[in-house]
Amino acid sequence: MSNSGAPFSKAQAEGGLLFIVSAASGTGKTTLVERVVQDLSNLRMSRSYTSRPARAGEQDGVDYNFISRARFDAMFRDGAFLEWADVFGNSYGTSAADTEAMLAHGDDVVLVIDVQGTRQVRSRGIETIGIFVLPPSSAVLEQRLRGRSKDTEEQINKRLEVARREVSEFAQYDYVVVNDELETAVAHIAAIVMAERARVKVMRSAAEKIIRTFQERRHDGNAKVT
Ligand code: 5GP
Repeated sequence: MSNSGAPFSKAQAEGGLLFIVSAASGTGKTTLVERVVQDLSNLRMSRSYTSRPARAGEQDGVDYNFISRARFDAMFRDGAFLEWADVFGNSYGTSAADTEAMLAHGDDVVLVIDVQGTRQVRSRGIETIGIFVLPPSSAVLEQRLRGRSKDTEEQINKRLEVARREVSEFAQYDYVVVNDELETAVAHIAAIVMAERARVKVMRSAAEKIIRTFQERRHDGNAKVT
């Protein structure tokens, strides 16, 4: 991967925050993030590129940018990916240019990526806010995977095996949300986004603008003591 993290620092300094949401497959992270993005303004979900064929009901340009293996490899060679990973035999990647454009526009961006991808983004020194979503228990995750009934027994066992490894990485992240009840988990993620937006380092210039209105009134001699 040849592209550096430098342009991101600039886009971030002038624009939005970069959130990462990860969870084991079947935890419901995409549904959660889609809901939060609907509920909050100026928050966008990144659309990944994948070599995986679309499943029934999935739309190109909506769920993913579905591309051929050859195009994925070409994008990789061109250093187009901010991060990428092979998951269950398919490749997935986040476009650096797409993400940077959204941040530069002033929107906050959520990457829904796996733990390997998170490590790559962080190793580039890019500032991120990581949220790890956990299922209430291993048994509940297994039930959910079986309920989706789109995987074979072998695939379910493989997903559970990968899940066991992934959940143990929760401490790499800044926040943990348990997806027990959908509405509660959505509210928790929205609360994290709102809290991060209220940090002094994010609010500094808006706050300083307000402070200046106090100073200007004092200099004008307009301030009245009541
Ligand atoms: P699925 O094929 O079920 O949609 O996704 C499989 C896994 O790939 C999920 O764990 C998802 O988080 C991960 N994934 C999707 N897009 C990306 C991406 O752009 N980068 C990385 N690192 N993982 C991704």
